[in-house]
Amino acid sequence: MIGWVLKKILGTQNQREVRRLAPLVQEINRLEEGLRPLSFEELRAKTNVFRERIARGESVDVILPEAFAVVKNCCRRFTEEKRKIRVRGQEIAWEMIPFDVQLIGGMVLHSGRIAEMATGEGKTLVATLPTYLNALTGKGVHVVTVNDYLAARDSEWMGEVYRELGLTVGCLQHGQTQAERRAQYACDITYGTCSEFGFDYLRDNGMATTPEDQVQRGHFYSIIDEVDSILIDEARTPLIISGPVTVSTHQFDKYRSSIEGLVRKQNSLCTDWANQAKERVEAGDLQGAGRLLFKVKLGSPRNKLLLKFMEDPGTRRAIDDAELEMYQDTRRTELYKTKEEMYFTIDERNSEADLSEMGRKFLNPADPLFFLVPDLITTNHDIDSNPALSAEEKLKQKQAAQANYEEASQRIHNISQLLRAYCVFEKDVHYVVQENKVIIVDEYTGRLMPGRRWSDGLHQAVEAKEGVQIDRETQTLATITIQNYFRLYEKLAGMTGTAETEANEFKDIYRLGVVVIPTNRACLRKDADDLIFKTRREKLNALIEEIKKRNGAGQPMLVGTASVESSEIISRMLRRENIPHNVLNAKYHQQEAEIVARAGERGAVTIATNMAGRGTDIKLSPGVPELGGLHVVGTERHESRRIDRQLRGRCARQGDPGSSQFYISFEDDLMRNFGDSRRIAGLMTKLGMEDNEGLQHPWLNRSVETAQKRVEQRNYQIRKHTLQYDDVMNQQRTVIYSWRTEILTTEDPRKEVFETVDEKIGAEVEARAGTDPVDLDGLVHWANTAMPLGLQKEDLQNAGGKDQWKELLKRRVREAYELKVKFENPEAVKALERYVLLGAIDRLWQEHLYAMDGLRTSINLRAYGQKDPLIEYKREAYGMFEELMERIKGEVVLNLFRSASSLSAFEHFLAALPQRTGRGELPVQAQPTEASLSMGGGKAGAVEEALAPMKRQGPKQGRNDPCPLDPNKKFKNCCGASGSKVCFKVAA
Ligand code: ADP
Ligand code: MG
Repeated sequence: MIGWVLKKILGTQNQREVRRLAPLVQEINRLEEGLRPLSFEELRAKTNVFRERIARGESVDVILPEAFAVVKNCCRRFTEEKRKIRVRGQEIAWEMIPFDVQLIGGMVLHSGRIAEMATGEGKTLVATLPTYLNALTGKGVHVVTVNDYLAARDSEWMGEVYRELGLTVGCLQHGQTQAERRAQYACDITYGTCSEFGFDYLRDNGMATTPEDQVQRGHFYSIIDEVDSILIDEARTPLIISGPVTVSTHQFDKYRSSIEGLVRKQNSLCTDWANQAKERVEAGDLQGAGRLLFKVKLGSPRNKLLLKFMEDPGTRRAIDDAELEMYQDTRRTELYKTKEEMYFTIDERNSEADLSEMGRKFLNPADPLFFLVPDLITTNHDIDSNPALSAEEKLKQKQAAQANYEEASQRIHNISQLLRAYCVFEKDVHYVVQENKVIIVDEYTGRLMPGRRWSDGLHQAVEAKEGVQIDRETQTLATITIQNYFRLYEKLAGMTGTAETEANEFKDIYRLGVVVIPTNRACLRKDADDLIFKTRREKLNALIEEIKKRNGAGQPMLVGTASVESSEIISRMLRRENIPHNVLNAKYHQQEAEIVARAGERGAVTIATNMAGRGTDIKLSPGVPELGGLHVVGTERHESRRIDRQLRGRCARQGDPGSSQFYISFEDDLMRNFGDSRRIAGLMTKLGMEDNEGLQHPWLNRSVETAQKRVEQRNYQIRKHTLQYDDVMNQQRTVIYSWRTEILTTEDPRKEVFETVDEKIGAEVEARAGTDPVDLDGLVHWANTAMPLGLQKEDLQNAGGKDQWKELLKRRVREAYELKVKFENPEAVKALERYVLLGAIDRLWQEHLYAMDGLRTSINLRAYGQKDPLIEYKREAYGMFEELMERIKGEVVLNLFRSASSLSAFEHFLAALPQRTGRGELPVQAQPTEASLSMGGGKAGAVEEALAPMKRQGPKQGRNDPCPLDPNKKFKNCCGASGSKVCFKVAA
């Protein structure tokens, strides 16, 4: 009821918005008529006129009607002259002039909102209108597509308009060099995928060491095609640039065989219960059976017998009843006891695994506490309140407790990931094993995703399970969520056929409103009610019969599946029936696009995973409309209604006839995990469902939709959660990235260096002056080991108070630095100064990211302590960041006198020092770094070159290996940079 009212209000709001824009449409059309007598040169000249008006301060909003009219008129000319355009190697004749609804769509995009326009309404063309208009500012418009193929297609196809009107168009493709990328961004308009844009941002801001390395030039306006796919589906995994970690902490191979034993034990336990349940059912005790099967569901959700019982509405209902009962608050202890009757529990919905007491005992009979997170809070409290301990001992014990806690967390994390790998992740569904590698299968498209890895050790756990080579763990070098990348834009817009169901999320997260644009011609698609079957087998048999029937009549069909596996099953069944068909295995986007494009031909049967071929137009061939047009079949309801709508939308475009229907069964994942089976089973009995026969009723549709809404809600929560954590990161990233940019672009990096050094000096002086008595010795020691200042205690004593000490130190630093610069190649000095800063920032920031990863893992474990993990995370992350900034300053001070453009410059400097400062004070670490050793020539830029491999690859040694330059020292402390995990001396 409420939904209905809301729909009415939204509906009218939407209509009002569309109506509000109608006068502008007329204005554009009137202006366009006025343009017709012009020559092409005169039309093109409009572009420069607009640019000048914008330069004089006129708003683009004012120019909109004229600019849209120019684009429309250009399209008209192309159509009239039947202009041939080469798109992806094929000639296409231009035959489109924007319809009125397309003009409205263009205005919605210009206003920074989402235009929902059905498939086939010509969104590609719609985007040209606001793109042209906004590109007139010269600030760069980014058009985001779902894959490289579409980026290339659209930039070639639509590019004809822009180029004709005097604008430049670029296109990002995977694998382009930095120079090529910069050239694409320099264009007025740039097409590309969201990963290409996002990774360029990360490289520009987190890794570039000179301004010339940066390729982007700001984030002004972006239009995202298929916006739901990008801002919602892809937004679940953040963009990550990673490199190998220095220290490996995983113990997957160590625990693998014990986990295998554990899983075997659990499986036989669950099979016993399932057999007992069978006996109960035969004895007529459904309730008892339900309780037993609920336990099986907790312990082994993919148990064969259990799945069979789930198919039967009666037993299924008993299981649901048992589950419902157990999750009541009053039954908490009982639920807990039930969980303790098995070795571990699996939560399939959240893909989580949890060890029980029994499991812990099995894994380590001698010490079951081995797999329990220690209670750090109580331990710390006990230490604090023990009067027998000195402050120093307390600190020591607390540190030991912390180390113990971290070790245990790591261990438990490893075990939990292995359990997930064994019990939730299935080979050939979630991943495949090829050439000794575990390759993820994309859940939406069924595409293999080589190179992508599950995070947080899960990938290694699956590798351990499959017995393939376990790759080194990776660490994050730079990361951003897609949400936070697109929030960088001053103005954001998007278009898709399916946005309405996710309107709330667009509003909350991106502040993007959704406007539904009416279709150009009325949509004739007929959506039939879902057909529901008890089992998958029955469902597929009925489906094949249907395909046979329609195919016999020549009607083309598009069969959408949820996974590669089910595509293959259907393909096998069709082969048995000798029905020729195409399967989209989706190896290459271009091929995929070509197959989908032919799906509207007479007699074509095309099987494709739900999202495959998105963005490709399906045209009907002659004779097909008379047969009813394209018929779309969904073989399973997807978790999200949006994806189903997307599939339906593949037919009946632009006023074509078409129809759609979904086939579902109780064995589908959606129904198993989220279906309100009790209700549905009740309905089915009421409606009188026979075996082997599908049932159809609007009530059933609604039940399925309820299940979908439930999953959508949960997935939204997960995305929001990821984002809340990334928001913390985002603030920190913004600080670091803008500091880096400042360093890269400033003409006076020395100023930046001294500001940082002065802050460090200030902090050190304050710290020593704050003790009683004042720690002058400590201050002298710090100053002389960090820098070659030759400072004497008397110097300070003679100088006065702490303000004078600061001044003295700052002056000495500048004097020593002047001396050093004298021996440097003047051309190299600025680059060197940048390096002093960037070297410190990058190394420590990456270490910080690693620590933040760890914090996230441990915070989630800490949720046991009744604290809100997000608040804890924010608090600790803040503390860690403050520490990071201090450490960066410290390292800049250390780097300042230890980097040189050549070894000889450094030696001259050292030689010059003793007369002035007494070389005796110069610490051992005052050696040139390996980077500066290999710099040789001393040209500007050499520094960065020498540094590049070190930064990208990182050292290969473990912490306790000997340092290759100084075998008497361990790797971890050979270079003296405090707290460092990375040897400064070794370029990999
Ligand atoms: P969408 O992205 O909205 O699904 P496309 O941009 O792929 O749609 O366009 C679908 C088809 O409609 C294309 O073949 C295109 O040439 C055609 N088309 C788009 N706009 C027009 C128009 N104004 N007049 C004629 N054909 C058009
Ligand atoms: Mg499209």
